[in-house]
Amino acid sequence: MPAFRPLPASEEAPATHVRSRTPTVFRAAAADWPAVQEWSFPRLAALDPGLPVRLVAGNRETDRTRFTTSTLGSYVSGLTREAAPDDIPVYLKEFDLLRKFPRLRADLRSRELFPPRTMRSSATWIGPAGARTGLHCDLLDNLAVQITGTKRFYLAHPEAVKRAGLESRKYDAWARLSLIGAEKLAAGQEDGEFFVADLEPGDVLHVPAYWWHEVVNLTPAVLLSGFFGPSTRVLSRWAWVQAREALHRAGLLGRDGCTCHAGAPGRRGPRH
Ligand SMILES: [Zn+2]
Repeated sequence: MPAFRPLPASEEAPATHVRSRTPTVFRAAAADWPAVQEWSFPRLAALDPGLPVRLVAGNRETDRTRFTTSTLGSYVSGLTREAAPDDIPVYLKEFDLLRKFPRLRADLRSRELFPPRTMRSSATWIGPAGARTGLHCDLLDNLAVQITGTKRFYLAHPEAVKRAGLESRKYDAWARLSLIGAEKLAAGQEDGEFFVADLEPGDVLHVPAYWWHEVVNLTPAVLLSGFFGPSTRVLSRWAWVQAREALHRAGLLGRDGCTCHAGAPGRRGPRH
């Protein structure tokens, strides 16, 4: 029996369904958003071609954290270029596209998607085929909208990593990390509730807080994520994250490595 089952799709409105707190895909729920229809790579590259961007090289969740820099124009124009087989993908992650270019908000229909009276924060993930985010779980629910290209999500039950004793000590402000990838984890567990979903443009995925997920681009892709929750939950998580961040910046937390500073595995590197 294959370890990863296809993630069930729902016809329900995401705002209603998210209360069930099980991962679900909503096919074509955002297909009519202007962002899905109009945000091509050339258009994104032309927004501000000279804007400096910091890129993550490789899989910083399970490997060493490394960064490189480019400009928005040069990076995004290069995404559709064929990569050499041994190239390490570089990835523009957690990019606050909407804050940089507020007029793009007019291309979203977020109010139709999210439950009423929730706080949310959005970011974009822009990368080439093969770009990957290693297995991790987030502290808040996420409704992710596939804007361009195809992305594969591997999902695992919130207990799956702890059960295997494979929680990483590496520090990440808003996530917990696993020492190994989803496929290796699933291979070691008979029935651990493992799912897979390939998102196409316009598809929406609900990843509930604490569900583990590993994500890989099957083609060059743009994803808009929306972390959300009731304001009391979001604000209390935020306060907790800020307190941990202060300890991390002071060198008191995350000495075994982190996803926010470059460095050798197991060592704090230079500050960015
Ligand atoms: Zn750090």
